[in-house]
Amino acid sequence: MIEARNVEFSFGSTPALRGASLAIDAGEIVAVMGPSGSGKSTLLHCLAGILVPDAGEIHFDGARIDARSEQERSALRRERFGFVFQFGQLVPELTAAENVALPLLLGGVRRAEALRTAHGWFDRLGLAGLEHRRSGELSGGQAQRVALARGLVAGPRVLFADEPTGALDSLTGEQVMDLLVTAAREQGTTVVLVTHEPRVAAYADREVIVRDGRINAPDRVAS
Ligand code: ATP
Ligand code: MG
Repeated sequence: MIEARNVEFSFGSTPALRGASLAIDAGEIVAVMGPSGSGKSTLLHCLAGILVPDAGEIHFDGARIDARSEQERSALRRERFGFVFQFGQLVPELTAAENVALPLLLGGVRRAEALRTAHGWFDRLGLAGLEHRRSGELSGGQAQRVALARGLVAGPRVLFADEPTGALDSLTGEQVMDLLVTAAREQGTTVVLVTHEPRVAAYADREVIVRDGRINAPDRVAS
């Protein structure tokens, strides 16, 4: 459903991906693990059409997307993909509800309807009463749940999450993962989840490991 084929990408003279291949099925939740600097975020950005590979191909829904224009890729991101990152992703000038409504507003949904839909997510994620707070008035866990609502509000086909629990303590991180996985399964959303934490990866259907810009099958312990 979304696939990287032999993707290579360098930042100047620094190679980040050296022939990475990964195929993810619709509705699958895949954890991307691996050491710092191994290329996990770069892989996620290539899959999401944020970065264009130097070589190799990205396919989504049976069509090659890396050869499309920036304008077409940005429309695809807006219409089909959702994003959750580790830090600083909420717009501080907006209320929590306005932050959640943003993808809908960008998609042309009228303000009253977008805010109504956004408000629905607050109950669902245990955030009722926080709709009018600014991001500076939320705890880390609350802000991450707001970011998660924003990533899912437009019903994306794929949710890209890069260390979505990286700034949280482990209990709060597990609560955010519970909500993420439950909401993704309800919507049938495919999830590409980058994480360092085995406890977070355990929520996925499958783990892949990035090492030196390539993807390895997970190490299996012989039993
Ligand atoms: P981490 O777990 O620390 O987030 P990562 O696996 O996500 O690491 P990437 O961010 O994909 O790793 O980085 C892969 C390689 O590309 C690293 O060598 C990194 O230093 C380099 N790199 C990443 N972003 C840039 C950039 N903007 N400019 C130059 N080099 C970069
Ligand atoms: Mg990273």
